[in-house]
Amino acid sequence: MKESFICLSEDHCARVLDTLEFMTQHPETGYKETQCSAYVAEQFRQLGYEPKTLGDIPGFTVRIDTGRPGPCVLVLGELDAVKCATHPQADPETSAVHACGHNAQSAALVGIAAGLKQPGALDALSGSILLCAVPAEEMIERDYRDKLIEKGTVRYYGGKPELLRRGCFDGVDLAFMVHTGNRLYCNAGSVGIVSKKVIYKGKAAHAGGNPQDGINALYAANLGLSAINAIRETFTEQELVRVHPIVTNGGAVVNGIPDVVEIECYVRAKTYEAMKHTNRKVNRALIGAALSIGANVEILDAPGYAPLQNDPNMIALAAKAAEVAYPGQTLDQTFVYGTGSTDMGDLSLLFPSVHPYAPGASGTSHGSDYQIADPKLACIQCAEWQLEMLRLLLSDGAAEAIRIKDAFTPAFASKEDYFAYIDDFYSKGDRIAYGNGSNDTKVRL
Ligand SMILES: [Zn+2]
Ligand SMILES: [Zn+2]
Repeated sequence: MKESFICLSEDHCARVLDTLEFMTQHPETGYKETQCSAYVAEQFRQLGYEPKTLGDIPGFTVRIDTGRPGPCVLVLGELDAVKCATHPQADPETSAVHACGHNAQSAALVGIAAGLKQPGALDALSGSILLCAVPAEEMIERDYRDKLIEKGTVRYYGGKPELLRRGCFDGVDLAFMVHTGNRLYCNAGSVGIVSKKVIYKGKAAHAGGNPQDGINALYAANLGLSAINAIRETFTEQELVRVHPIVTNGGAVVNGIPDVVEIECYVRAKTYEAMKHTNRKVNRALIGAALSIGANVEILDAPGYAPLQNDPNMIALAAKAAEVAYPGQTLDQTFVYGTGSTDMGDLSLLFPSVHPYAPGASGTSHGSDYQIADPKLACIQCAEWQLEMLRLLLSDGAAEAIRIKDAFTPAFASKEDYFAYIDDFYSKGDRIAYGNGSNDTKVRL
């Protein structure tokens, strides 16, 4: 294995670990990863690449052509951090911290770029490779992203659908990324998300003097949350539904009846069908609660992430490559669907994709004790794993990549069809139109 291009040289390993260190020291949340994106792009430049940056958002791509015809394989590394104020490495001002291991993923991406520059690396390969440092995987800070959407900078919360929209992935045939984890495994897939913002609207009045003149938006919100809880037993195990709201604004002043109360919520499920009909039930519960006390409710739904569907052929390929990069270990194919979500799901509906996990992290994902405990496992061997996947896909005239591509049926005929479908999730406006008479109040489910 030492002679193979997939085994990184000492210099390249040092560069990978430097990248991990920089990312750890400079955690930035989604669509704000300017320092990390610039640092990683500079590593690519020093390796002799010309990164194509995105201009108004962080992230970049690099296309590597073998000079021989064949499919294009997209390989991604995520740039963004999460927030966890109690983590010892959290940025004291923003609470941002790499408690999801994306720092190790970006470091591994630098390792892949370095490996492909080692002597003879491309000699036996056909087709092309698109490396992408991608922003904004964690679906957080919705208000910030809503502002970016309002300005027209982005259209989607997730970096992957946004880059897809921008044409960055045009011409891609297959895609993969390895997420940092605490062991070597791959699920069958994971659930998708509908992102919800719910604004209960009541009427302010003096809370002591004349509450009878008000309409309490907080009570309407409470009823809404109770109504969601009352439908939980209709969620089936097969659909893997998760509904988890938080109250982001519970009222302004204690001596006033709250007139605006805001909730954020995800509706997660295993299929788009389940996401859609569960979301409809949740909206019905939220609206019924408003109606019961004469309040109103605006529901701002948005497409979150698609359900992830790992391609079985790509899982098998990842398992074969893992044996080379992690000698003595076997990729644990769990055959279950995870109940977290990723925007890799969006790509998995269009290209044969896989999103397995590499070992090397310890502690609770997104928690205060999360660490990259073994950088060699999480970054260097992870890069070598992905280099071996590329070798298996693109050697012999890219025979394996072509076989996997031909066996794959995309869920949507084109990215345009896919965007038309998910854009249907967007909603806004008050859901209740109160009339004056007894029969003219209208509800929009
Ligand atoms: Zn995460
Ligand atoms: Zn993550």
